[in-house]
Amino acid sequence: MVAGYLKLYYRGELKQRVDKAKSLLESCSVCPRHCQVNRLRGEMGKCRTGAGAIVSSYGPHFGEEAPLVGRRSSGTIFFTNCNLRCLFCQNYTISQLGEGESVSKEELAYMMLSLQSQGCHNINLVSPTHVVPQILEALEIAIESGLHTPLVYNSGGYDSVETLKLLDGIVDIYMPDMKYGDENIAGELSGIENYPEINRAAITEMHRQVGDLQIDKEGTAQRGLLIRHLVLPNGLAGTKEVVNFLAGEISRDTYVNIMSQYHPCHQAFQIPSLARRISTQEFQEAIELAQQAGLHRLDRARHLILRF
Ligand code: SF4
Repeated sequence: MVAGYLKLYYRGELKQRVDKAKSLLESCSVCPRHCQVNRLRGEMGKCRTGAGAIVSSYGPHFGEEAPLVGRRSSGTIFFTNCNLRCLFCQNYTISQLGEGESVSKEELAYMMLSLQSQGCHNINLVSPTHVVPQILEALEIAIESGLHTPLVYNSGGYDSVETLKLLDGIVDIYMPDMKYGDENIAGELSGIENYPEINRAAITEMHRQVGDLQIDKEGTAQRGLLIRHLVLPNGLAGTKEVVNFLAGEISRDTYVNIMSQYHPCHQAFQIPSLARRISTQEFQEAIELAQQAGLHRLDRARHLILRF
């Protein structure tokens, strides 16, 4: 499969997108936090990231969703820091404690090319929201050295529609989280009350760009939207609101990974309602809510129920 970004590159439009994205860093509005700091001068906002990207690790990954892994793996690049502050973050050493190394645009381009040369089906950008301009700069360099592998935008789902529009035609697969259905809970657990509203607008834009997930006959994702929803204990993730939104406002054919692997970490032990894993019953209820809403493309749902 040929990545969508090559068309923009050959039409000369990619350069304009890179320039526009970089201009957002001057008074940062890359994400909906709108910190308005000058990241080009090294100032930092909520994501604690200045002019350059920071990477924790990169490499072929076999633990992602089956359509991304295919036969030859998904090529993940884990970006350090995050625009969210989830008290229960399952990757908190990377997202909150800053584990990683600063990389130049050339080094980031090299990582993309390296993953392609290792045969990965896609370049899976993990937590890309706060470094979209840096990713686009690196992408341009990588294309000039032969990159043609599709991009996966794997975000926490707190993305700005304006920035997403810059990715139209560049990203082939969007894989955002839908973390919450309730703004008060989003405020308590991630420090960001308007998460549901922003998240729904972002999902709508992503779906407008790429549509439902298309999977080829070998089982590998080609293009489209894939949603992740992590079930939290005590109904804190608002599964009913999330699945009703997807089925009612996006598409009943939305591919959804309802995830059971929540475990307390980071600051979750100090919050009684978050201080345990979910039960079998809670997970089964989440699956049933999705099915009752009319969603029928649930990633590995049967397998996970049996595994409990
Ligand atoms: S990307 Fe970072 S600095 Fe920019 S608005 Fe978002 S949190 Fe603030």
